[in-house]
Amino acid sequence: MSYATINPYTGETVKTFPSATDAEVTQALDQAQAMFEAWKDVGVAARVKVLQKAADLLRESHTQYAKVLTLEMGKVIGEAEGEVELCAQILEYYADHAEQLLAPEKLSSRHPSYTQSWVEHVPQGILLAVEPWNFPYYQIVRIAAPQLAAGNVLILKHASNVPQCAAAFERLFREAGLPQGGFTNLYATRDQLKAIIEDPRVQGVALTGSEGAGAVVAAQAGQALKKSTMELGGADAFVVLADADLDKAVQWAVTGRHWNAGQVCCSSKRIIVVDEIYDAFLEKYKAGVARLRAGDPMEPSTTLAPMSSRGAVDDLKKQLEQAVAHGAKVEVIGAEVPSRGAFFRPVLLSHVSDDNPARYWEFFGPVSQVIRARDEADAIRIANDSPFGLGGSVFTTDIKHGIEVAKKISTGMVYINHPTGVAADLPFGGVRRSGYGRELTGLGIKEFVNHKLIAVT
Ligand code: NAP
Repeated sequence: MSYATINPYTGETVKTFPSATDAEVTQALDQAQAMFEAWKDVGVAARVKVLQKAADLLRESHTQYAKVLTLEMGKVIGEAEGEVELCAQILEYYADHAEQLLAPEKLSSRHPSYTQSWVEHVPQGILLAVEPWNFPYYQIVRIAAPQLAAGNVLILKHASNVPQCAAAFERLFREAGLPQGGFTNLYATRDQLKAIIEDPRVQGVALTGSEGAGAVVAAQAGQALKKSTMELGGADAFVVLADADLDKAVQWAVTGRHWNAGQVCCSSKRIIVVDEIYDAFLEKYKAGVARLRAGDPMEPSTTLAPMSSRGAVDDLKKQLEQAVAHGAKVEVIGAEVPSRGAFFRPVLLSHVSDDNPARYWEFFGPVSQVIRARDEADAIRIANDSPFGLGGSVFTTDIKHGIEVAKKISTGMVYINHPTGVAADLPFGGVRRSGYGRELTGLGIKEFVNHKLIAVT
């Protein structure tokens, strides 16, 4: 495993970074523990000042931060700017709300012995965060903002292709006033990760990534009897009902499937359209995809980014070959893409039969599936026929009815008339093979605290 910045647009290796030494890992754990001993007793109000300052610093230098994202993993610059602003909003959300979210909760036990009882939310210590490259800052901030506010400290193992993003966030927190040991970026190897998880001072692990990585890290955490949260893959259903605003649904489907070059856990990977409007939808959808323009992601006019690496392109091609070997059909629907760099020309995947294993895969790139449903009940059945359970959406002009349909979709999040979204003040997470636990809001801040009961007789 080697850490390197490889520009996905040019293929150039910009910089490589040596993996951490075992001595650096030991030092990081020692410093984190020492920092925790002090940080846990600093009040919430003082802790969140660091978060507010980090938000201000991000906004002051937003373009500089955004360009590092685009350089390392290729997202278009406008989306990179949006990610930086979203991070500032999350930091600010916890700066504004952490104190109230962490307030002790009074209980009213009927037991005659206890006159008073309450639960306090007490920090526990060092947490390990293992994060993916597709939203390099947002993934960090989703765990770091709430946990630093709660009084925990973090060690980050970021994806090996975004080492500069990881370093930028470590610097950001130091500049915002977080003492050394509060947030440490380590270019750790897998063996070192396992050792970190097993270290008795480490209290939990938060991983965002693929099912494969999740299964390995969750097993290591389980073996060490440590709490973990898993934010894994998805194959979100995008259900379009007969009364939907067709143009709006098409526009959101094209965006929902192709932002971040289709490399989003909650992107609209299975677009399910009822029979009555299927043909009209598909025609407009193909035209919308054909209008996407691939090019330099630093150029604001580019609307289709390269994928994160050549390896990611090759993996996606292999998945498609296997799907085709089992009877599926692939049709190119996107415009030409540059021949250099990690571009993937958008395709439509169809005729994926019930016995084709690809039916249950996550395609992490510009691969669209537009599935015909007999009617609404059939659309809901198809939406729920997935090992994943991350997000989903329902398009209809009847909001009341849309809410009823949303209740029948078995995922962690359902949006009406919008692809599964992200917001600083809404929770994020899924069920089944999409993982467990939640990030953001009050749910996220309470994942790694000790809910400690105090009872008085
Ligand atoms: P990945 O390969 O699983 O990598 C995620 C992180 O786990 C990286 O830091 C990676 O390090 C590390 N990792 C991988 N295998 C590991 C192992 N065996 N032991 C320990 N660490 C390991 O995922 P990805 O390709 O970067 O990201 C794409 C996946 O993440 C997709 O499935 C996507 O849906 C999911 N995702 C989920 C969410 C969510 O919130 N639910 C959000 C974003 C992405 P290296 O880079 O060094 O291998």
